[in-house]
Amino acid sequence: MSFLIVANWKMNGTRSLFVNFIGKLNDKSNEITSKLVICPPFTSLPGNIELNNNISIGAQNCHYKKSGSYTGEISAEMLKELGCTYVILGHSERTHETNGEIKLKSETAIESGLHPIICVGENLEDRESSKTKEVVEYQCKSRLPIHGEYTVAYEPIWAIGTGHVPSNNAIAEVIEVIQSYTSKKHVIYGGSVSLENIENLSNILNLSGVLIGSASLDFDRFHKIVQQVEKAY
Ligand code: PEP
Repeated sequence: MSFLIVANWKMNGTRSLFVNFIGKLNDKSNEITSKLVICPPFTSLPGNIELNNNISIGAQNCHYKKSGSYTGEISAEMLKELGCTYVILGHSERTHETNGEIKLKSETAIESGLHPIICVGENLEDRESSKTKEVVEYQCKSRLPIHGEYTVAYEPIWAIGTGHVPSNNAIAEVIEVIQSYTSKKHVIYGGSVSLENIENLSNILNLSGVLIGSASLDFDRFHKIVQQVEKAY
């Protein structure tokens, strides 16, 4: 399986920025063997847009119900119809979500034909009290669906948007914990991934991809990160 590079744009990126970004990515895509998943805000989602083979589009959330009276929400089926193939679920910036809701969302996404990227990760307090493994184990138990294809993203909350990244050993150990809970062995890492640290992160043997937030917004920076990954794998 190719190395997975997921770009989470959060609440950034207009439709025109997205169209421009995808155009540039299409032009470079025959030099790229990694699988790229771009996750813009809902309002920039693709509709009719040309995508080269190794580029996919993801959303940043979906509802756990297939339809109904949920004002302002978006269903997995709606995302699928717009051309999404992935959806990020359980991101820590969506703090009000329970583990049970994340699991239901994952199940609904899979039933609707999407591939969920399910986030797990400890907060700073958990880390400082050496509870990382315990917390991640519990999240795996309560968030991961029993059936279907999905990817787990290890995203320590204290590393997101802070410039702080765990050591390679610490990431590899948590990946092992996650792998012991699921038959899906492809675990990706997210939390302040950047051009400065991607070469070092590429040395983690059991890492199958990265989830990149702020460093994925600028095309040239993102492309350089992709090129660095291409050199390593
Ligand atoms: C994220 O949004 O999931 C993320 C990892 O953000 P950043 O790369 O900015 O830390």
